[in-house]
Amino acid sequence: MPDFLFPPMPPVRVAIHGRDECFPVHRIYCVGKNYAEHAREMGSDPEREPPCFFSKPADAVAPGSGEIPYPPGTENLHHEIELVVALGAGGRDLSPEQALARVTGYAVGVDLTRRDLQAAAKQRGLPWDTAKGFDFSAPISPITLVEDGSDLQRGRIWLEVNGEMRQQADIADMTWSVGEVLAHLSRLFELRAGDLVFTGTPAGVGPLKPGDHLRGGIDGLQPVSFLITPVTTAGAAGRVIDSGQGGPSGVGADCKHWPDSDLDV
Ligand code: MN
Repeated sequence: MPDFLFPPMPPVRVAIHGRDECFPVHRIYCVGKNYAEHAREMGSDPEREPPCFFSKPADAVAPGSGEIPYPPGTENLHHEIELVVALGAGGRDLSPEQALARVTGYAVGVDLTRRDLQAAAKQRGLPWDTAKGFDFSAPISPITLVEDGSDLQRGRIWLEVNGEMRQQADIADMTWSVGEVLAHLSRLFELRAGDLVFTGTPAGVGPLKPGDHLRGGIDGLQPVSFLITPVTTAGAAGRVIDSGQGGPSGVGADCKHWPDSDLDV
């Protein structure tokens, strides 16, 4: 072990449905505007634009159950329900078929977005990091391994807020398929085992406020179900070191104790 100036962060991890092992997170890539109806609601032409990518820090991951704090610095936090792809192997310059063979599982995630900061960044041609990459901005369900039988060419994707349906579509409606998304990404980055890819959200994104309860799912996968709580003053990093609970977003050190969702699927 080399000497460190201070203790390094523990690995960020995500629970795997039905397994004791954790999925160790390497990077989080995200796709923008991958459903035509959502591209239109954001003012884009879905026919003419190649996939647009951005990323979140790995430690933006949080269990998609229990509580997620409303982030500071925004007046307009939005939900985006998404299919999340978990890679078990990596590579560069992959074909869609080669890329699909690297997928080890899928999860349901919410790409939480500070829409007001994103709109300002778009207008001024500035980066999206503050809009997309904040603490707790990537709540995610336990991963369902592909070998467990999930076939995700199609399937209903949905999100309710306080029992009201806000987003509902089919993942077959994605402009760029999972294989195509990964193939594009692999020409820009060397993909690695542990990478998570948020594949874009369907139409119906909208604002959240403290006290809102989100429930969302995709056929065949574990759901997300969590409460938005008021802005915390404690700070994410402080929680980790004091509580020994793992990653900065409170991801449990022991994936067996990943909080249960209150949804039955
Ligand atoms: Mn998104």
